[in-house]
Amino acid sequence: MRDFYEVLGVARNATDDEIKRAYRKLARQFHPDANPDNPEALERFKEVSVANEVLSDPQKRQRYDQFGPEGVAPGAGGAGGDPFGFDLNDLFSPFFGGGDPFGGGRRGQGGPQRGPDAETTLQLDLNEVVFGGTKRFDVTMPIQCDTCSGSGCQEGTHPQTCPSCSGSGEVRQVRRSILGQLVTSGPCSTCDATGQIVPSPCETCRGEGRVRGPRELEVEIPPGIDTGQRLRLTGRGPAAPRGGPAGDLYVTVRVAPHSTIERDGDDLHAVGTIAMTQAALGTTLSVETLDGTSTIEVPAGTQPGKIFKIHGNGVPSLRSGRRGDFHVHISVEIPTKLSADEAELLTRFAQERGETVHEHRDGLFSRIRSAFQ
Ligand SMILES: [Zn+2]
Ligand SMILES: [Zn+2]
Repeated sequence: MRDFYEVLGVARNATDDEIKRAYRKLARQFHPDANPDNPEALERFKEVSVANEVLSDPQKRQRYDQFGPEGVAPGAGGAGGDPFGFDLNDLFSPFFGGGDPFGGGRRGQGGPQRGPDAETTLQLDLNEVVFGGTKRFDVTMPIQCDTCSGSGCQEGTHPQTCPSCSGSGEVRQVRRSILGQLVTSGPCSTCDATGQIVPSPCETCRGEGRVRGPRELEVEIPPGIDTGQRLRLTGRGPAAPRGGPAGDLYVTVRVAPHSTIERDGDDLHAVGTIAMTQAALGTTLSVETLDGTSTIEVPAGTQPGKIFKIHGNGVPSLRSGRRGDFHVHISVEIPTKLSADEAELLTRFAQERGETVHEHRDGLFSRIRSAFQ
């Protein structure tokens, strides 16, 4: 998405008036009526309209300035959350989804609109990523009204054919504009281009057929998925007005960091800490992998930084399903406090090897030695 200020060609500190003027000029230039059958102009027109929609509203503009496109994007704030109270339908329904008045197959056909698409973020932990499975999550979005089952009608009543457009969803208008007299055909405003009106609207949804609320969804997690990858839930997005087909929900995955294990592609990495005596003499080390406890035979003389691989305990490849490896990086712990006996033993060990070390005055050995001096 291009920067909204750039789209309108105004400075970031532009006044409301400057934004209004820039929008009017560009909207005239790219208006579909002035550019029949010009998809490029239509795209520009949509782009300009969306930019204006945000920048002409002080609240949305502030959010855009503060958070960028994320702040005004569908599903801003993650799963189930719209912390800015921003209804994505305000911004997108004129252009996406069934009500699209400027092109797309729905023009003038009447009938139910399709719900808009929406996007949300889903947090997974590493275990869910490695083993996949079904994940349940809640998302707040327009959902079908329970009272009227989406029809928008009060109980016992039915929708009627719109008298303004005779059910076509489209009206023709002759109007004067800066370009001269224009015959435009546009969406019928009486019925919102659906071709039908609701004579006695449902009280819960005021005839919309949908309300904003929480919805529990399930998604199948493909093993190996990573942060930033997106799943599409076809037809499980926001409800459409008056019972039309729901839009799609795009779910962007975010993987929470694990406390001890790090992922690098299909491999996992963890630190295995052993004592210096264990490094020197060898030991058996227990390691917690996502598959359970594994044991590693650490041979005598193992150096810090040595890596042991547990084959096949990594992350499955999204393509092949083959799992990577689990790497254990050896860390050798040097004791920071020594008892007198320990210090003596180590001092004797150093002497045995001819290594120069600091004298430990508290040590038994040094006390004995100083007694003979
Ligand atoms: Zn209702
Ligand atoms: Zn109508």
